[in-house]
Amino acid sequence: MAVPSLADDSETHWRVFVADQADGGVTALDLDAPENRWQFELAGPARLYPSQSGAALLAVQSDNDQVSVFNSGISLDSHGDHADIAVSEPEQIDGALEGARPFHVVSHGPEMSINFDAGGYVLTLEESDLLEGRLDGTSFEQNTAHHGFAVPIKDYVISSVAAEPEDDAEVLPPRVGLAAFSPDGEMIGDLHTCTDLHGEAFSGSYLVAGCAEGIAALDTSGSEPVMQMLAYPDDLPAAKTGTLLGSKAMQVFLGNYGADALVVIDPAEEPHLRHIALPYRSVDFILDPAKPQFGYVLTEDGTLHRINLLTASIEDSAGVSEPYSMDGHWRDPRPRLAIAGGDVLMTDPLNNAVKVIDAETLAVSRSIEVEGLPYNIAVVGGSGLTH
Ligand code: ZN
Ligand code: ZN
Repeated sequence: MAVPSLADDSETHWRVFVADQADGGVTALDLDAPENRWQFELAGPARLYPSQSGAALLAVQSDNDQVSVFNSGISLDSHGDHADIAVSEPEQIDGALEGARPFHVVSHGPEMSINFDAGGYVLTLEESDLLEGRLDGTSFEQNTAHHGFAVPIKDYVISSVAAEPEDDAEVLPPRVGLAAFSPDGEMIGDLHTCTDLHGEAFSGSYLVAGCAEGIAALDTSGSEPVMQMLAYPDDLPAAKTGTLLGSKAMQVFLGNYGADALVVIDPAEEPHLRHIALPYRSVDFILDPAKPQFGYVLTEDGTLHRINLLTASIEDSAGVSEPYSMDGHWRDPRPRLAIAGGDVLMTDPLNNAVKVIDAETLAVSRSIEVEGLPYNIAVVGGSGLTH
């Protein structure tokens, strides 16, 4: 006699999205069964931004003035002591967002904020609206069109601020600072200088951005943000930070420091910045969401390094690919990294593949062929119960 099983089924599922830098388009595939794959057409090459839960994904096509929206097909629903996972096919949501030169996307809680650089505004959308195809969002008008960001926090908006553009200027004006605004665009408090602002990330109660002067750190725990400039240490060679990642599991950031170094940033405790010299220029770096003490950086000689954020040091290194020089055009296809559980994934455009690398041993375990010129990559998924 068959006895119904009362045991909960536990499932781990990672889905990988890879953007084609040659013809545009996105390939989605299941990491453990890469023959399960889906092909989506886009207007052009895209950068991919999953929502914080991973249920939605934005494909930003800057040169084509479009942002496409995907339902990743994986939803993780946390019940506190465990999560439920539901897996279905990925879907492209009907209709794309259109606007002048969409670029950076900032995720904060269930919201995603897209900067339209040439439009001078930021559109914020809720994940649940994205999944239902409601793409109106809430618009925030910036002081002038520029390559920046804005993000609503509590009842205010933090936005980058740019210089007033010169008449007949052919390029967007330089970023000069950061300020809090009311939702209708009134500045609250002072403009905080942050020359050449680039890169922004959240961790804990902080939002940070890279500046020529140092790292701007905004403590958002009170009713109004408090800003502090974390100066670059005097004993370091002159360089600056322009890319930042924030940990979800502890209050720490990892940023670049010039082309061939990283900084571990603790916005609350001294020393605020700890420097990690790299043997070659960095191609891409990433934080490990499940093991927050670790990050990984690929250098242009084809070596993957595991960074320990607690000790601010390189813990292990291994060759994982042929060299990818950082000389040449900034947008030449080069590897990009993502994490799927215990694996580091690396797009390998020279070999039309995604490499799967064991995060512990740094050994390449397999290579998954992907059509086109695989470049940007995003991973969603995790483990949960299906009951
Ligand atoms: Zn459950
Ligand atoms: Zn940028």
